[in-house]
Amino acid sequence: MLDLLLPQRCVVCGSGGSQLCTECREELQRIEPPLCARCGAPTAWPVERCRECAGRRLGFASARGAVGYDAAARRLVHAWKERGLRRLAAEAAQVVAERLPPPGVDALTFVPADRGRRLERGHNPAERLALELAAIWELPCLQLLERTRGGRQRGSSATERRSVRGAFRATDGAPRKVAVIDDVYTTGATAAAAATALRAAGARRVEAVAFARALRRG
Ligand SMILES: [Zn+2]
Ligand SMILES: [Zn+2]
Repeated sequence: MLDLLLPQRCVVCGSGGSQLCTECREELQRIEPPLCARCGAPTAWPVERCRECAGRRLGFASARGAVGYDAAARRLVHAWKERGLRRLAAEAAQVVAERLPPPGVDALTFVPADRGRRLERGHNPAERLALELAAIWELPCLQLLERTRGGRQRGSSATERRSVRGAFRATDGAPRKVAVIDDVYTTGATAAAAATALRAAGARRVEAVAFARALRRG
């Protein structure tokens, strides 16, 4: 509610008017083909697997991010998640829908927040994004995943991978084709753990969709 009353400033550049100005929205880093068909990393030519994902067990069929997780996207995600500027979830969903095709699934679900974070923030950013996308893509949004333990950590890649392995459980009878929504794709370990749980619960194909994706250099 509060963000409706405060003067609006762009969370990326600080100019007055709206929480995300037209220019900053337009300049959010594009992730353009060719891409790795599996993990969505930009590559020199189209590949089925790339340096980033080869040799890894990833439960999802493909992962896509709408924008690169650069400094601007980082500011936006921070304002949306930590400052609770909820209208930004709708902005983020619009950007996703403009830049990515609908994932071709029966339903959307989302990466659950751990309890502590949810209580602290009063909302789960991934859930809000999923709800906004479900409305745009006219798909149901189902709460299918829960955390089995612990919290999410995004330190080093190794830390993230360790901390999310087996971290989720999914409700039995998951739809055959489902997309798991998250705000940021960093190493893919979270999306992979969520996908593995969904497949154990009956999903045949899981797509991962994120607002922002970390891009490696070089
Ligand atoms: Zn701006
Ligand atoms: Zn890849």
